[in-house]
Parts: sequence; C-alpha cells; structure tokens
Amino acid sequence: MPAATTRHPESSTLTLEGAELGNLELRAALEGIAYTLADLAECFPMESDVARSILTERQKVLRDELARRERLYAGGVDVPDPYAAEHDAWLSLAGDVRRRADVLSIFGDAGHVLSRAGWSNRRQAEEWVGACPWCGGRDRFHVWRGADPGYWCRGCGAGGDAITATRNLIPGCAGFYEAVAWLARQLGLPAPIAPHRPKGNGAGFEYVRGKVVPR
Ligand SMILES: [Zn+2]
Repeated sequence: MPAATTRHPESSTLTLEGAELGNLELRAALEGIAYTLADLAECFPMESDVARSILTERQKVLRDELARRERLYAGGVDVPDPYAAEHDAWLSLAGDVRRRADVLSIFGDAGHVLSRAGWSNRRQAEEWVGACPWCGGRDRFHVWRGADPGYWCRGCGAGGDAITATRNLIPGCAGFYEAVAWLARQLGLPAPIAPHRPKGNGAGFEYVRGKVVPR
C-alpha cells in the first residue's frame, strides 16, 4: 500500500433520509430505484410523473456519489472498493426479497388497511388501494403483488418496493441490513454473514446458527 494514501475526508458523507450510506446500501438503493422506475414507466406511463421525478432525482444523486467513490478508489485513495465482491450476496438477497416478499402484508403488519381494487391486466396482478401512510390521501395509494410487487401514491409520489416499505414501516428495520434480513426471515431464506458490522443505521442483526436474528 502506498505510504502517502489517506482517507479522503469526504469518502462516506452521503446520507439518505438521515442515514450515512455505505457502498452496499448505495448500490442496493440504486437497484431498488431502477426496479421501481421501470415498473412505474411500464404500468403508469402518463400518471406517475411526480413519483418518477422524485426517484430520478435521487437516482442521479446516488449515481454521482457511486461514480465519485469509484474514482477515488481507482485513483488509489484509501477508501473501500465500491464494487467489492463481498457485497454480492447481500445484493442478490435484496433482489430476491424484493421480488418474493408479500408487500401487501408489510403494510398490513404496520396497521394500514387496504382494500382490493381489482385485477390489473397490465401487471397480471391484484391491486389494492387505501389511505397513503405518508400523505394520508384517502384513495390514491396503490399496492400490488405479482411479478414486480411494489407500491405507489398518486398524491405524494411515494413509491417503492418491499425493502423501502419495510425500512419505512417496520419497527427496528430502518437500515438496509435489518430490512433485508427481516424480509429474508419472513421468506425462510438464509441471510449472508455481513462482511463487516455496519455502523449507524446499518447495524441491528446478528448471524446465529445460519439464521439472521435481530439484536
Ligand atoms: Zn401519499
């Protein structure tokens, strides 16, 4: 290692919703946004402008930050590799739970009542509607199951997947690791061992005998 390298003072300063973002959380957040944007573009091409502009704005910030960390790492600055292979297992698990988790029951577990709105041919999935947990709008909030489960509020633009729903609604699951581990537990999936104990918002679980349990 070159003797002169020092930790870049701004190497990990990006925060999202108040939490410092590690490299894995950053990449996972980008994957989540891409997933939700693709779904909204396909299923609500005309109506989802607000949600898409919020998500696109956030995507740009995250992409710029990831590119910045990549440049620092490639330039020999003493920062972690943003594309470290040790993150792959968690990213893969995040993708799995995003597609397989029952997003409707996440809202139900958090006490939000939704009623069946009908079958969406476009999604080939049942859609549910109710009051938005964020803006309170009475009839603008949609949740759907199917191949690409997720949620979206026509009023305030909140939109996301099972992971963002869990982080926002399930107590003790505000961090990426807790949320993914919680969803994996619901699905009976084993979670990987964390490459390092995450700091701050990322902490909150332990790996015990092949299962992830909350601390
Ligand atoms: Zn709303």
